[in-house]
Amino acid sequence: METVIERTKCAKLSSVPQSIGKSHPEKQTVLIPEMNRIAAYLFSATLKGFGLGAKVLPTFGGMDLGRAYTSGKECYPCQVTMGDILHYMKKEKERQGPAFDASRYVYFLPTSEGPCRFGLYSSFQRMVLDALPGLKGLRMISLTTTDGYSLGSMLDEERTMDLRKAGYLSLVVADIMDRLLWRIRPYEKVAGLADAFIERSISSMEAAFENYGPSKVFHKILNRLEEIVEEGKSIVDLSIPRKPRVGIVGEIFLRMHVQANQDLIRVLERHGAEVVNASLAEWVNYVTYGGLRDAKKGFRLSLKQRHLPSIKRYLAQVIHFGADLLYQQFRQGKVYRRVKNVMDIADDHSMSRLEEVLKENGLFSFDITTETCLSVASILQYGRAGFDGLVNVYPFTCMPGMVTSAIVKPRMTEWRIPYLDAPCDGTFQPGREAAIRTFMYQAHQHAQKKREGEYPS
Ligand code: SF4
Repeated sequence: METVIERTKCAKLSSVPQSIGKSHPEKQTVLIPEMNRIAAYLFSATLKGFGLGAKVLPTFGGMDLGRAYTSGKECYPCQVTMGDILHYMKKEKERQGPAFDASRYVYFLPTSEGPCRFGLYSSFQRMVLDALPGLKGLRMISLTTTDGYSLGSMLDEERTMDLRKAGYLSLVVADIMDRLLWRIRPYEKVAGLADAFIERSISSMEAAFENYGPSKVFHKILNRLEEIVEEGKSIVDLSIPRKPRVGIVGEIFLRMHVQANQDLIRVLERHGAEVVNASLAEWVNYVTYGGLRDAKKGFRLSLKQRHLPSIKRYLAQVIHFGADLLYQQFRQGKVYRRVKNVMDIADDHSMSRLEEVLKENGLFSFDITTETCLSVASILQYGRAGFDGLVNVYPFTCMPGMVTSAIVKPRMTEWRIPYLDAPCDGTFQPGREAAIRTFMYQAHQHAQKKREGEYPS
């Protein structure tokens, strides 16, 4: 372990890009990290539909390896994903023996640019993989957010656009299925019905994406989704009164990864909450929205400078990101409208609205970037929408998570809305359950006061 850490520290950063980049995944298996369970399976099914080998990486079984090959200064999601890939490779080596060839795998790890450590995960993990015997050949698809997670290296250009459309739909559908689960599970007739139902539904949705994703016959996928939502309604016991609604925001990996956040949603539900977690598509939309903002800024500046090559470059970017954002909004809106005809699941926040909210309040700015933009604005939106409690989930020492906390806590106190910080680092905190129980007691009181007309609904 010592040796690897020292070697990773000493490795030259300039050597990193040689191992990251284009590959030939049609001959390989693309390994999808399980950050959000449903999304990972639907996205993997979509890739299979396009003829690519794909597999969802089993998660959280390799935390010993994740910790052994990090120094302790990295963010918790980096340790989890590091452990996942190393554990899987170790198992594959054991299973295949001398026939094992790391170059038959492609590790899908999105990255980002900006002022936080997320953008360094892929570089760091590349160094560790390179330092371990037999893993140098493992390719990483590590695309920056500046191109809106373009999947250009995986297929020829023509099919890449189709894959991006089907892939985006798979994320939106996964969000809807999550929202359906959180909407019905607190009211299920028999304990365990909702979980079992969603598990079954994932399999049927996988088949839909594999069969109809590549040909973009999206209405067939949506027909199936509508049937699932309709069926989900039958699980609800209508005699159970509406419970206090709790909104979750925070760092995307932690709020999505059930094991890493120690099943926070289920714990909140056990104490009487109905939960809405921020969506996965929100992050994708934010990336595209950010790309468009930057391109517009660059375009305005290049106009002032009258620099023709820059004008052309930024104009092309404005068109590219603008078209992507329009498509994403159109597709997401269509899916939500269709499902909401069947059941009142929570809407997703629009990016332009979130930016407006921040401007109105003057609490933060999209110019600063990071998830703080989303978390602060979403908390304010949840608060205005009458939620009874708000939770901010983030890895211990996560800068955007702590900034969010510092900004929104005073505002939530002013609005008299219960608020809870839920930092996670993989350890079991003895006071956590008590903090959640207290928070939920306050949320119940908030809901009661709303019913009595003391607080606005
Ligand atoms: S968002 Fe937080 S957890 Fe994620 S990389 Fe940045 S600092 Fe780390």
